[in-house]
This record gives sequence, structure tokens and C-alpha cells, in this order.
Amino acid sequence: MHDRDAALPALPAPMLAYGNGRSYGDVCQVEGGSLLRARGLDRFIAFDRATGVLRCEAGVLLDELLRLAVPAGWFLPVTPGTRYATVGGALANDVHGKNHPRAGTLGRHVRAFGLRRSDGGHLTCTPQQHAELFAATIGGLGLTGLVTWVELQLGAVASPWLAVETLRFGELAEFFALADASLASHEHAVAWIDCLAPRGRRGRGVFSRANAACGLADGPAPPRPGLSVPFTPPFPLLGGPGLRSFNRLYWHLPRRRHRIVHYQPFFYPLDGIGQWNRLYGPRGFLQHQCVLPPSVAPAAIAALLDAIADSGTGSFLAVLKTFGALASPGLLSFPRPGTTLALDFPFRGEATFALLARLDDLVAEAGGAVYPAKDARMRGDHFRRFFPAWETFSRHIDPAFSSSFWRRVMADLAD
Ligand SMILES: Cc1cc2nc3c(=O)[nH]c(=O)nc-3n(C[C@H](O)[C@H](O)[C@H](O)COP(=O)(O)OP(=O)(O)OC[C@H]3O[C@@H](n4cnc5c(N)ncnc54)[C@H](O)[C@@H]3O)c2cc1C
Repeated sequence: MHDRDAALPALPAPMLAYGNGRSYGDVCQVEGGSLLRARGLDRFIAFDRATGVLRCEAGVLLDELLRLAVPAGWFLPVTPGTRYATVGGALANDVHGKNHPRAGTLGRHVRAFGLRRSDGGHLTCTPQQHAELFAATIGGLGLTGLVTWVELQLGAVASPWLAVETLRFGELAEFFALADASLASHEHAVAWIDCLAPRGRRGRGVFSRANAACGLADGPAPPRPGLSVPFTPPFPLLGGPGLRSFNRLYWHLPRRRHRIVHYQPFFYPLDGIGQWNRLYGPRGFLQHQCVLPPSVAPAAIAALLDAIADSGTGSFLAVLKTFGALASPGLLSFPRPGTTLALDFPFRGEATFALLARLDDLVAEAGGAVYPAKDARMRGDHFRRFFPAWETFSRHIDPAFSSSFWRRVMADLAD
């Protein structure tokens, strides 16, 4: 798609918008259907440098937006951990960042968007205008139609730099204490945990918290385009016995407690390694991200880590963040108050599916939810339990749209 005013093609099979494929599973796929490649909608439409209100087409990358906005003193109000997502894709998954307690999801900062429907309609949706479609489309997994443009309220920043503090913690309880203490003092917070540590130390990790750096005339430059993984190795480099040693080393690594850092390595560490996903070998990997309610989060995360240890599998990337109470505008939005845990597992066939199904059960028992943007295999009954608004949402799906994800989580209802 290159023309935001063009009608959608009339196609015999279902269609689905595709942003930049930065989702981990099948929310951006429609088997047997047609993908509408939205990346071609890549123009900026208006930018008020005094107020930070920016309107752009939906295929603009977050990276392109930042290159325009940061020199003018503005930043994304909420950013996911990759700057290679499109604005439309970020809206459709209602992405969250490391500042959820203060800013909520991206959808809270969306003022308006254009929605192209298969009946020929091109609607402008705001919280007041076509309000139901506004709520269904934010976090609506691309199913309500094609988002053609988005108007966002950006957040003011004094510079491209952050003042980052890094602290090592020895057990899960310390993570929760640090996370609580940081809510008032820091805008951004995230922790890595070593889920392969011996049982007594399983929740140890490294906590990073940051605020925008003010009053700096100069700071570190953005890192140069880094290494790229040139080919897929025949076996996973991020897996196996080496992982335990890597995690131990990473935890012990001496690091400076206070640093001034450019926004790129802080917000987008994986973007610094091109094609990093190849490190998981030819069979790839699956990610699992869940959120657990505050009252049960410590016990539930311990139970998840025990289940992972019992399975003999490890996760290279195990990341904890806090979600606050600011409600998402989206009907199907994933973030809700609590603690979110994201894990990567090298794919090992049935054993990996069995482990992730066990994790889903634990999340369901704890009253949490699993993130569709990171999913490729959750069961329909789990999805419907995690997202009770699914039925109301489904009334807003464009009849010409579907996705492999949606068919999968609805398949058992069709029986
Ligand atoms: C390294 C990495 C870190 C990440 N960190 C985070 C994080 O911290 N927080 C977080 O929330 N997510 C995170 N993600 C997930 C990522 O931000 C989301 O999956 C995002 O939605 C991907 O955007 P995309 O443009 O690539 O869209 P795609 O993955 O191509 O599509 C995502 C969804 O958006 C829909 N869509 C795309 N464009 C449009 C459009 N124009 N109109 C309507 N629907 C559309 C698609 O149909 C699909 O349902 C991360 C992903 C990676 C790879």
C-alpha cells in the first residue's frame, strides 16, 4: 500500500495489514489470505514542534519518527524494545514500554487515526468519533481494517540522553522492592533475571532504571550500526550448556552504577545486533510474555521459574517490568496492573510447546494474561480467559479481515 486514499483491494480470501513483521508469532500473518504491506505508507503529514502533536502515515517506522522528533525536543511517549516497528503495528498491538506505570500504553497517546474498511469507508477515529472502533482498533491486532495514518501526542525531552542507574539484585524479592522504590523516582525501569541460576538464587538479576538526562550540552553518540549475524548457524548459539555460564558471567559482570547513555542502546538493545534472531539456529525460538496481578506476582513468577527449571530448558532473555494502573483505551490491550515477564526459548519441538502450555496454565491460575504479539501457540480457551472483552471486540472485526492468530484462538468455537 502506498496511497492512504486508495480503496482496499477486493480479494476473495481474507486480508490483513502487515507492518514490519516485528511481532513474534502469527498476529501479522494470514495463511491462505493476502497481506497488505503497510510499510509503503511512510510519509509524515504534520508536525507541530511547539506542541509535539505529530501526524504520520501508519507505515512510518518508530526509528524514522524519532529521527525527526528528537532533534526538535520530542520523543515517543511510549516505546517498545525495537525501533523497527511501524506506527500502525505499534498501535495495533497497543505496545508498552519501560515507563508503563507513568505513561500507560501507546494507545493512551493516540489522538486520532484513519481507518480504511473493506466497505469503502475511510473513517477518522478519535476517543469521541467512532469511539467504539477507536477502542477496538487500539490493540485490535489489525482485525478492524487498515490504519492509514495516526496522530500522536509526543512527550517532551531535553536531550537524546538518559541518566541510567544499574543495580544487581540477589533474589526475586529484591526485584519487587527495587521496582516499588523506583516508581516515584524513575520514569523507566526494567530488569534482566537469571532464570538458570541454582534454585536458591533463581530470581537474581540486574535492575536498570533511568530518567531523561537534563542540562547536558553533549553526551555519548548513538552506537554505530553494529554487528549483524550474517547467516543462520546450524545449531542454536543461544541455548544449551553455554547459556548457564553466560548468565552467570552476565550477572557477575562489573558495571558502573551511574552512566549517561544515548536512548538507542537503552531502549533498543537488540536492534544493535542485526538479524539477532538467527542466533537461535534454524529452528528459531518462541517467546512467551505474560503479566501477573500485583497480589500474586512474586509467587507466580517463582512458580514460572520453577517450571522452566524443571523442564531443563533455559531462557536467554528473561525480562521483568512493572505495569501500572493507567488503563489502556483498547478493548483487547494486553497491559494491566502487575508484573510482566518476557522469555525466549530456542525451539525444540513438542518439549517447547509442552513447557509453554504449562506456563500458560500457571498464568491462567494466577489471573494473568499472555501477550498475543509474542505468541504463536496459545490455546483459544486461554486467550478468551485472558481477554474477556474478545466477544465485544469481535463485533468490530472487518468482515474481509482475519489473521492466522485469530483463526487459531477461535478454531475450537467453530467445532
Ligand atoms: C526486539 C523486540 C522488542 C520488542 N519489545 C516490545 C516491548 O517492549 N513492548 C511491546 O509492547 N512490544 C514489543 N515488541 C513487539 C512489537 O513492538 C510489536 O509486535 C509491534 O506491534 C510490531 O510492529 P510491526 O510494525 O512490525 O507490526 P507487525 O508485527 O507487522 O504487525 C503487528 C500487528 O499490527 C497489525 N498492523 C500492522 N500495520 C497495521 C496497519 N497499518 N493497520 C492495521 N493494523 C496493522 C498487524 O495486522 C498485526 O496484527 C518487541 C518486538 C521485538 C522484535
